Amino acid sequence: MTPEQLLRPDILKLSAYHVADAKGLVKLDAMENPHDWPGELQEAWLSHLHLSHINRYPDPSARSLKRSLNHLLGNHEEQGMILGNGSDELIQTLCLALADPSNSKPRTLLSVEPGFAMYPIISRMTGLNYVGIPLQKDFNLDIQVLLDAIDTHQPVLTFIAQPNNPTGNVFPRRQIEQIIRTSSGLVVIDEAYFPFTDSTMLDQLYHHDNLLILRTVSKMGLAGLRLGMLLGPDPWLEQLEKLRLPYNIGTLTQLTAEFALQHKETLQASVADIRRQRGHLYQQMKTLSGFTIYPSEANFLLFRSPEGTGPDLHRYLIQQGILIKNLHGSHPMLTDCLRVTVGTKEENQRFVSTLQQWIDLDP
Ligand SMILES: *Cc1c(COP(=O)(O)O)cnc(C)c1O
Repeated sequence: MTPEQLLRPDILKLSAYHVADAKGLVKLDAMENPHDWPGELQEAWLSHLHLSHINRYPDPSARSLKRSLNHLLGNHEEQGMILGNGSDELIQTLCLALADPSNSKPRTLLSVEPGFAMYPIISRMTGLNYVGIPLQKDFNLDIQVLLDAIDTHQPVLTFIAQPNNPTGNVFPRRQIEQIIRTSSGLVVIDEAYFPFTDSTMLDQLYHHDNLLILRTVSKMGLAGLRLGMLLGPDPWLEQLEKLRLPYNIGTLTQLTAEFALQHKETLQASVADIRRQRGHLYQQMKTLSGFTIYPSEANFLLFRSPEGTGPDLHRYLIQQGILIKNLHGSHPMLTDCLRVTVGTKEENQRFVSTLQQWIDLDP
C-alpha cells in the first residue's frame, strides 16, 4: 500500500509549506522581532522555568496565562479566549469547525489577495472552497466587489488580516464594518501585527455576533513560543473549544508567556524601536530610483523593484548574506515584489547599502 493509494486525492495535490534556510544570513524574511532578550532577563526567565513540572501535563485551560492576557488586553473582567499553538492553529480550528466534508457542495472561505498564504493552504487541507478577491492596484479594498462576492459566495468564514500581510496596509474601519454587517458567516479579523499599528477592531468585538479577532505573540517578539489567541463572543468560543486538542499549549509556553508579560516593558521597548526603524527604512528606500515602496503599519515593508529584476535582486541579497522574502511569482499582483522585515538599525542599514550596491552594478 502506497501513500498515493491511501491518501485523499486533495491531500496528494497539496505541497508542504516551504521555509527558506536562513543559516548564516541576516534574517529579514519572517517578521521576527530582531531583538533577543538581554542577559539578565534570560537568566531570570530560566530560573522562572524552575517552576515547571515537566513530568506533568500542562494546565489544560491555561487559566493563569489567560488572566495575564486579559490584563494585557486591558479587560477588567475575564473575557473568553481560545489559545492556539500559534494563531495558525486557530485558523485551522476555525476551518475544521466550519468545513462540511459530508456535503457535496463545499462551503466557502473568502479572503482578499494578495493576502496571508495560510488562509488558502488551510482551506484546502480542511476541505473548504477558497475564494480570493483581488485588492485594487494600490492594495486597497475593492469594497463593492468584495461585498458582492460575499453576497454571491455566502462564505461561512471571511478572513481579513489587518494590517494585511504581505501588503502592510490597514483597510478603512468603515469598510471592515460593512464586511461584518454584510456577512451572514463568521468574519475573523486577524490582528497579527497589532503591536505595530494603532488601528484595531477590538472595541467592536462584542457588538457583532459574527465577529472574532485573532492575535498572536509571534510578531511582537515571541515567535519561538507558538502562542495565538482567538477572541469573541462566548457562544462561538464554547463550540470552537470542542475542537481544541487538550494540552495544546505546553507548560514551557505557558510559563514563558506569563513571564514575558510580567516584563512587557522589554517587548514594548523593542516594538517601539521597530516602529521607529520602519519609518527610517521607508524614508531611505523611498530615495532609491526605480523602486516602489508601499506604506506599512506592520513590521515589514513591501516593495517592487524595477521591472523584471525582482528575482535577481533577491538572489543578489542572499549572495551578500541577507535573506528577505521573494514574492515574485506568488501572485500576479506581486510581480517583482519583495518583502523585507524591519530589523535592527544596523541590519536595515546593511540591507539598504546592499540595495544601493546592486543598483550601482547596473546603471
Ligand atoms: C504571521 C501571521 C500569522 C501567524 O502567526 P503565528 O501565531 O505565528 O502562527 C497569522 N496571520 C497573519 C496575517 C500573519 O502574518
